[in-house]
Amino acid sequence: MPTPKYKRILIKLSGEALMGDDSYGINRDVIDRIVSEIGDVIQLGVEVAVVVGGGNIFRGVAPASAGMDRATADYMGMLATVMNALALQDAMRRAGLIARVQSALTIQQVAEPYIRGKALRYLEEGKVVIFGAGTGNPFFTTDTAAALRASEMAAQVVLKATKVDGVYTADPKTDPEATRYDRLSFDEAISKNLKVMDATALALCRDQKMPLCVFSIFKHGALKRVVMGEDEGTLVEC
Ligand code: UDP
Repeated sequence: MPTPKYKRILIKLSGEALMGDDSYGINRDVIDRIVSEIGDVIQLGVEVAVVVGGGNIFRGVAPASAGMDRATADYMGMLATVMNALALQDAMRRAGLIARVQSALTIQQVAEPYIRGKALRYLEEGKVVIFGAGTGNPFFTTDTAAALRASEMAAQVVLKATKVDGVYTADPKTDPEATRYDRLSFDEAISKNLKVMDATALALCRDQKMPLCVFSIFKHGALKRVVMGEDEGTLVEC
C-alpha cells in the first residue's frame, strides 16, 4: 500500500464550509460529508488536527465596523468557533471517529482547555483534536490559529479546506480567464495579495517553513489525494 506523504496534518475548516449552500449555521449533510472525507485519511494512519472557523455563525469584523467594540465582537466570534467545534466532534462521534475538543478560551463545562502536551498525546493515540476559540485572542483569525497550532503540533502541513479547489490568479466565479496555481511561494502569495490566508497566518507559516495546501473539501477524495502527495489543490511553500 502506498504510504501517505504526510503523517500528521492540520486541517483548517472555515465556518463557511460547514454551512454549505445555506446562508447561516451548520448543514448536517455537509458536515457529515466533510467528516467522511476526514475519516478516509484517518484510515491511512494519518494523525489529524482541525482548527475550525466561525464565520457561519459570527464574525467580529462586521459588527465592529458597525460600531460594536471590536474585542467584544471578536470574543463572540471565538465562541462561535467553539459551537462549530462541538458540532464537528458530534458528527465525528456519529461516524465512529474519536475526537476531542480543546478550547483556547476556558469554558470547562463545555470543552477541555488547550493543553499542548495533551493534544499531542491524543494525536499519537489516533484521536482527532479539534481546536476551538482560535488563538484565544481578539484581533486574530482562525487562519492564524491554524498556523500556530500546526507549528505547536509539529504538523507537516496546513491543509486549508475551502469551497474552491485551489488558489486562482483571479476569482474564477467572475473571471473566466482565471487560472489555478499548482504551486506558489509565500512571498508571492503575500505580495500579490492572493486570497490564501490572512497575512499574519501566511507570515507565520513562512517563518516556520510550514507548507500550506489549499484544496476543495467538497471534491470527493481531494483530501486523501492531497495527503497521498498527488496533484491536487495549490501548494504554498517557501
Ligand atoms: N477570532 C478571534 N481570534 C482568533 C480567531 C477568531 O478574535 O484567534 C474571531 C474573529 O472575530 C473572527 C471569528 O472569531 O471573525 C471567526 O473566525 P474566522 O473569521 O477566522 O472564521 P472563518 O472565516 O474561518 O469561518
